[in-house]
Amino acid sequence: MIKRSLKDVQLMAKGEEIPAEYHSIMIEGVSRDTREDMSGKLYIPIIGENFNGHAFVRDAIEKNGAVASLWQKDQGEPPADLNLIFVEDTIEALQQLASSYRDQIGMKVVGITGSNGKTTTKDMVTAVLETTFRVHKTAGNYNNQIGLPLTILSMKEDTEVAVLEMGMSGRGEIELLSHIAKPDAAIITNIGESHMQDLGSREGIAEAKLEIAAGLTQNGKLIINGDEPLLTKRVNQSDNIIKFGLGGQNNYQATDILLKGKGTYFTLGDSEYFIPVLGAHNVTNALASVVVGELFGVTEENRKKGLHQLTITGMRNEVVETRGGWTVINDAYNASPTSMRAALDLLASLDGYQKKIAVLGDMLELGDMERTFHYEIGKYIQGKNIDYVFTFGELGAEIANGAREVMNPSAIKEFANKQELVDELLPILGTNDVIIVKGSRGMRLEEVMEGIK
Ligand code: ATP
Ligand code: MG
Repeated sequence: MIKRSLKDVQLMAKGEEIPAEYHSIMIEGVSRDTREDMSGKLYIPIIGENFNGHAFVRDAIEKNGAVASLWQKDQGEPPADLNLIFVEDTIEALQQLASSYRDQIGMKVVGITGSNGKTTTKDMVTAVLETTFRVHKTAGNYNNQIGLPLTILSMKEDTEVAVLEMGMSGRGEIELLSHIAKPDAAIITNIGESHMQDLGSREGIAEAKLEIAAGLTQNGKLIINGDEPLLTKRVNQSDNIIKFGLGGQNNYQATDILLKGKGTYFTLGDSEYFIPVLGAHNVTNALASVVVGELFGVTEENRKKGLHQLTITGMRNEVVETRGGWTVINDAYNASPTSMRAALDLLASLDGYQKKIAVLGDMLELGDMERTFHYEIGKYIQGKNIDYVFTFGELGAEIANGAREVMNPSAIKEFANKQELVDELLPILGTNDVIIVKGSRGMRLEEVMEGIK
């Protein structure tokens, strides 16, 4: 993590001049949360919706062991006798500090955005690069205007590559993150429908994701999912654009996708890759990681090895063996129309199972069109050879309604209570069945998982 003198911090964060006697005091790490141990750290008071961190500055230093704190100048009279660095805006100062630390370390940076698959792709890129470099990746979902700078500042000085997830909820946010991180490789995994509410259309979402190119380094590359026309039509084919996907128009095209057991095989050029996760959508995620690996000089052998031994952050297409013998694919981490379709395609592409069952919950935050989106997902089940559809939640019921148009209605059931769903599901499960469980985070469908395990 960052280790600098207060004088350095003041310069890096573009704060006001501090008294000379403070110059050589060292900080090691930064923290914005007074529930954490702050020994030796710089406290960054953030003004949030519910709390104003400036109320805790004295505690941070006197009780939690912080060495110094930032102070935003418009926040009234600062507490006396504390080591403070005055700044215009504490969040901007945090971002400046991170941006400057990134430049000083001089590591390579991979930025990853997209509607779905950011965390998965981050894990894959890391797995490939870790075979060869010292890599630091975003922890969990620390992917916003505060989380991303904190991630950068938590990196060791000798980090060789940073793999950073970039999330957004509206225009301008990815651009800001890209300017802070200055990626050498910027990946866009796909374009979905999340944040329709704020961005109006899928076109608007594509524009917002493409902001990731704003901060690219001089020879930086924009690496996009070339199967998405909304992306390809917005970029001019040039040396710094690389396209990956399943279609023939891509620079990196995966073919011969084969799902087997808990993983997926695919071919790229002359070589066969294996990823220990299921689904064609994960093959596209893996392609992005292969592109970055090649770009940064990871050998083919190591690219393969890295992906082969990959571990994925939980509840994303996680294959769970059960006591009853049936297989459950836990995809309860989150859901949006794109990822729901990916999940249904995955279920359709699985071989060797007796019955295929989809347990689907509400997809949240989709705006005015939410009912239509759910209904359409129901209709998407057509021809997928899915034997039963159980839905949970009010919007989930719209999936059931759509499915009734394309499937035998007696194979579709909707529920408002998870226990009732589990009670009706258990008696129809057999040893060779496979069940996929998916819904938005707020629906907590892992509780159904527990019930059928
Ligand atoms: P968040 O915005 O919540 O951080 P994320 O973009 O990081 O999400 P992941 O956590 O990697 O996405 O994956 C979430 C779900 O999206 C997975 O469980 C999977 O169902 C689906 N998914 C992953 N990759 C893709 C993809 N390339 N296309 C469509 N769906 C995908
Ligand atoms: Mg994520």
